[in-house]
Amino acid sequence: MAVERTLSIIKPDATNRNLTGKINAKFEEAGLRIVAQKRIHLTKAQAGVFYAVHKERPFYDELCEFMASAPVVVQVLEGEGAIAKNRDVMGATNPADAAPGTIRAEFAESVGENSVHGSDAPETAAVEIAYFFSGLELVG
Ligand code: GDP
Repeated sequence: MAVERTLSIIKPDATNRNLTGKINAKFEEAGLRIVAQKRIHLTKAQAGVFYAVHKERPFYDELCEFMASAPVVVQVLEGEGAIAKNRDVMGATNPADAAPGTIRAEFAESVGENSVHGSDAPETAAVEIAYFFSGLELVG
């Protein structure tokens, strides 16, 4: 399996509850290496650009408000099959459906405030990584 990089975001509900370390431990225990990481506070407009694919969805405005409500930790995770592996570690979007032991099962508060984001495909991972990081910031 190929070594991949994926964009991860620790969302405001998790940074508010001081869960960055516990979530990072889940990634590292799964064999994902954190090769870039920074804490930023998005504006609603910046969150809107990031989630533009969901522009037509009824929850778009609420999602952008939430993502701008407190700091987030944006990070690049690297490893074999990192995109799918990260989504396994995250669990299903709705924590009620997330498998035991996943980040969302353990930490998410609701389908909206669900603690983490992870890229869903190689193409989106490349675009999402470039939205937050320059090449010089990726230290594998
Ligand atoms: P993901 O890839 O598992 O993050 O899920 P999606 O790409 O489908 O949705 C992106 C994000 O939008 C989710 O992680 C949630 O934060 C939010 N979201 C998705 N569905 C809903 C919903 O029904 N209500 C609300 N408020 N937010 C949602």
